[in-house]
Amino acid sequence: MSNAPSERDVRESVALAGRVLAANGHNDYIWGHVAVRDPAGRGLWMKASGQGFDEVTAESVILVGFDGMVLKGTGRSHVEWPIHASVMQARPDVGATVHTHPPHAIALAASDAPLRPVSHSSTLFVPPAVPRFTQTANLIVTAELGDAVASSLGDEGAAFLVNHGIVTAGAGIPAAVIRAVLLEDACHQQALCGAFGRPATWPDDDAALQKRAALWNETHLGQLWDFLVRQLDRIPSAEMALGGPSSA
Ligand SMILES: [Zn+2]
Repeated sequence: MSNAPSERDVRESVALAGRVLAANGHNDYIWGHVAVRDPAGRGLWMKASGQGFDEVTAESVILVGFDGMVLKGTGRSHVEWPIHASVMQARPDVGATVHTHPPHAIALAASDAPLRPVSHSSTLFVPPAVPRFTQTANLIVTAELGDAVASSLGDEGAAFLVNHGIVTAGAGIPAAVIRAVLLEDACHQQALCGAFGRPATWPDDDAALQKRAALWNETHLGQLWDFLVRQLDRIPSAEMALGGPSSA
């Protein structure tokens, strides 16, 4: 008997990931998407275009082939499907990917400032420096551009698409979504460091890596994902549509 998740489970997981992102500052009207690798290898599951993260249901999730063809479900694919297809084809270890346009991450990347480990969140990523994709600030609508994004991401879990957004990757939805949430959180916190008229400080690389080991182990990441899911029950839908409590 197969342990592979059912189609219904996969659809539900994509919808859940969208709601978590909506509740944590990743709403950009109808743009941004999460993709999950199809357990049968046919492509990836993502929401159909034209809906916000907080609107996604299992029924509005579609199967998109690695060539962009809609293989199952109703609706059109987002034009930036190549981001997910290219990353998953380049990275057998990746089961889920996120592409969003979160405001603080876009602002930091546009400033040319590197992300620094000024907070707990940022130690999930740095060191090394978060990769920056600069080939274009326009939409990633071809396999060639998708491959260039995947090349920029390399073996990392997150990258900035400068003047555009972010891409994150993980073994599954929790890892990919947590990276998106914490990357935006880290950029927001670094932005606040400019508010006091004094240079910010941060731990050196060794100390930042020690923090990563202490903070972002599998136990804490699992607990954080469970919290993010539970949190959804406490957020009124109208508030989630505006980006959740953190973006008020
Ligand atoms: Zn985009």
